[in-house]
Amino acid sequence: MPDLSPATPAEASSTAPWVELRSLDTLWFQVSGTVCNLACTHCFVSSSPTNHTHEALSLAEIVPYLEEGSALGVKEYYFTGGEPFLNPEMEQILEKTLEYGPATVLTNGLLLNPDRCRKLARMARDCRYSLDFRVSLDGYSAATNDPIRGAGTFERILAGISNLFKAGLNPVITVTEVYDDNGSIEGKTRFFALLAELGIEKPRLKMLPVFRIGAEAERTGAYESWQRLRTSDKPGSWDHLQCSSCRMVTDQGVWVCPILVNEPDGKMGAELADTLNAFAMTHSACWTCHVYGVSCKT
Ligand code: SF4
Repeated sequence: MPDLSPATPAEASSTAPWVELRSLDTLWFQVSGTVCNLACTHCFVSSSPTNHTHEALSLAEIVPYLEEGSALGVKEYYFTGGEPFLNPEMEQILEKTLEYGPATVLTNGLLLNPDRCRKLARMARDCRYSLDFRVSLDGYSAATNDPIRGAGTFERILAGISNLFKAGLNPVITVTEVYDDNGSIEGKTRFFALLAELGIEKPRLKMLPVFRIGAEAERTGAYESWQRLRTSDKPGSWDHLQCSSCRMVTDQGVWVCPILVNEPDGKMGAELADTLNAFAMTHSACWTCHVYGVSCKT
């Protein structure tokens, strides 16, 4: 029986379990900061054209983290924002990263014109490690996607996906469960049919639950105080949580994970070496990670 008792922030903090960093496998970069060319109504980072909570990372800022991460055994690198391709150095950053390991870019697809996609496909073909893309889409029609991601975005996202595919890249389509039927069998079937219409015979789909923080808290409401983790939850270990194997680099230092970048207490240090210790899961978003088994990785 789950504990549904409410808690003050102090109580939640004192009873929160700690998650150890098992190994630093995945290094994330908030590469465009919190700046985006969209202002999606479910964005847990509240990214938008005017959100400068975090600014873009330059290639020169990223290289020391690639070096440090490599020495610490990082196996793969992820880039998110905001919209990564708003970063004017994004392609150079990818080229450099691919000297260290596999890379994945999470993008809204709007800046994926045919020329850029051909260039990215050449990079993917010629580099030592794999280069992968995730494109976000929140409905299988304009009527369902556009209220979340913005007017006209459905067609523009499909164009970006199509440009990647025509260049020889098969992106993972990331769908947030903003509607009950997005994650149902019928919903997934509709997404697969949509991708088939683009000629994609081997569709790749990743579903994510919503996190009720940032813009999503304004859209559907914030977490209830009982939605939190407690030491008494004791699942055996917390190794199923992505924060047991990842850290997130921003322009202001290193955060515990990609989800809490707007939370001041999510910051763990300036360098990766400062962030190898355990983290207290006081935040309600941690409850979603545990209950839904979320990983932002592909
Ligand atoms: S939000 Fe999720 S990934 Fe981040 S610290 Fe909490 S449990 Fe870990």
